[in-house]
Formats: sequence, C-alpha cells, structure tokens
Amino acid sequence: MEREDLAQGVWIFKSRFAEMLSTLIGLDGKRAALIDPPMFADEAAEIRGFAAERELLVDFLILTHAHGDHVYGAAHFPGALIIAHRSFWDFSRKIEATDQKFFARFLPDYEIPEVRCPHLLLEDGSEMRLGRRLIFRHAHGHSPDGLMVELPDEGIWIVGDVVIPTPLLSSGSLVELKTSLRELLERFPGGVLVPGHGRALRGDAARGAIAANIEYLERLESAVRDAIAKGIELDELLEIAPECLDLSPRDLDPLDRWIHRENLRRAYEELLRSA
Ligand SMILES: [Zn+2]
Repeated sequence: MEREDLAQGVWIFKSRFAEMLSTLIGLDGKRAALIDPPMFADEAAEIRGFAAERELLVDFLILTHAHGDHVYGAAHFPGALIIAHRSFWDFSRKIEATDQKFFARFLPDYEIPEVRCPHLLLEDGSEMRLGRRLIFRHAHGHSPDGLMVELPDEGIWIVGDVVIPTPLLSSGSLVELKTSLRELLERFPGGVLVPGHGRALRGDAARGAIAANIEYLERLESAVRDAIAKGIELDELLEIAPECLDLSPRDLDPLDRWIHRENLRRAYEELLRSA
C-alpha cells in the first residue's frame, strides 16, 4: 500500500478501494490505534505487519463512521477494542442493507463481513491519553455518527469523510455538512488534515480542500433550489448530467456519477421538506 509518514509514530496507508486512508498511531511504544482499517484482508495484514516490525500491536480500532469502506476492515483485527461515536451503532443498523447493496454493486467479488458492534461509544470532546493525546469530535453531515480525531500535540486532524474529494451526503444532510465544514474551516489550526479518501493535506491546501467542499455544497444547493422553484421533479433532475448542473467540470467515473446523483436526491428531499 502507498504509505506516508505524518509524524513520529503516525502513518497513513492508502487502500485500493477509492483511496480510503487508514491512519496508524503508535501510542505508548507497545500499543497502536488504527483509524478506519482497510476492507481488504491483504491490506490489513500489511498494516499489522508494518506495526509488528515496530513492535506495535494494533489494540484499538477507531471508526470515523459506519459506512462499509471504513468499518468492514474491523473483521481483520478480531482482538482489537473498537471505538466509535455514540450514534454509530443505531446508524449502522439502519444503513446496513443499503450499504451491502452498494458494495455488492461496486465490488462484486468482495465478501462482506458482519459489522462488529463497538466496545466504546464516545461523546463529542472525549479524550484518550495513552502515550499520546487523542481528542474525539462529533461531526455530522456526511453521516450522523461522524467522529473526527485530533492529535493536538502533533497538529494532525483525522476527519473521515467529513472532507473528501467530492462531498457525499447520501446518509447525512446538506445543511448539517455545510455547518460541520464551516466549523472545521474556522477551527482548523493549519497542521495536517487527513480526509477519508485521497491524501493528507497541509496548511493552505487543507483549508482549500475544506473550502472547495463547502463551495460544491453551495453549487449543489443552488442547483436543487432552482429545480424546485421551476417545478422540476426529482426523477427529471436525476436525468440531467452533473456536468450540466455545474457540479463537476471533469469526466466522471461511475463512482463519481453515483455520488453526484445521491447528493442531488438527498438535497432535493431535504430542501423540499424545508421549503
Ligand atoms: Zn462515508
């Protein structure tokens, strides 16, 4: 896997599924926490082996939210203690069937494991002090159970899918995600930002990525408000290519296309309810 060293004892690994990022954090010299374990057994084994070479055991898994690409990998670390946000489990139960359908479509050969119930469910502001300080923040919008992890001493913020190359609100809310991103932009001190997918970003590039996510949501909102005002039905709106709605200027792969459609559907339903 492609790996990047972020600080002494902190590494990120890029999965072959949609460039999802897993963050390995050495804690007290013996134990390590892994944020968002990769879905695939070989990738999980690679990270476990990398940790073992440094005499670290992956004793803790931290799940930033309950979407399959971030949680299925827990099956590859059966002895680890699982940490997630308080609303993780209820949300996980609710989306399990939809998520299974999604992964069966995009990864037809992947055998979907059972989602494991976390051992520790945290509130906003919870802290872990074990060799290193970790602060947990609740952020909704992409999903109701979003958990961001701050390493205040290293200036590293691991934010899960709150920030991704193209925002996705299929199981969240447009208004809430915009609020979470604006708060993040205000509070981010300018160190390293680890998004859910893609690559680690630093300083202005990190702020730029957060701002670009906000701008995308604003374009999405105005396209959907426009459609509602013109009396365009949801089915009709979904027929229009995302490029024509000013959502994306580039060629889209099937996953991108799916993301834009999900966003349109979700935003339409949300804005129509509040109209
Ligand atoms: Zn997600």
